Amino acid sequence: MPRFFRRAGAEIAYLGPEPDRWRSPTEFALKNAQEPDHFIDLERVDWLDPLPRGRYEFYRKLYEKRAATTDHPDDYLPEHVGLQPYITMEVYGRLKAAFREYRKLKADHQPTAPVEQAIIFYAGWLGHYVADGAQPLHTTIKYNGWVGPNPNGYTTLHDIHGSVRDSLCWSEHRGKEFF
Ligand SMILES: [Zn+2]
Repeated sequence: MPRFFRRAGAEIAYLGPEPDRWRSPTEFALKNAQEPDHFIDLERVDWLDPLPRGRYEFYRKLYEKRAATTDHPDDYLPEHVGLQPYITMEVYGRLKAAFREYRKLKADHQPTAPVEQAIIFYAGWLGHYVADGAQPLHTTIKYNGWVGPNPNGYTTLHDIHGSVRDSLCWSEHRGKEFF
């Protein structure tokens, strides 16, 4: 791992919650465009295995499914299903491309400070979606408590999301907001 990257822990930690700073109604277009990036409801895509590699193919499959569905067809709208795997791979692609550029500049004995900044930003940004994918309630339609038949009596309390997030954060990150 390059030294600049190892030393960027504080910057990367700061950038972890960056996508949550893009959810303010004061920047409506931004909030609207990126909110589905934080989750994927896997129950709604269990018929899609493997997931398509690119987001536009994913959109197309979802709209086909929606057109063929009579019961709650809007459940298959991309913004209702979630796009977390796609934004994760897209930001990962940016990080990979930046590291490739870094290696090239290094080999050519060119300054690397600008690309180092880009790498740190992409790494922090990527960390957010990786953490979202690791939060079980970001991958289910039951993110706000159990819905549907419930023979085992799982909780239907809407605050379960916050409780799980907080317990994960408190143990892993001493209370910092990460999800
Ligand atoms: Zn998130």
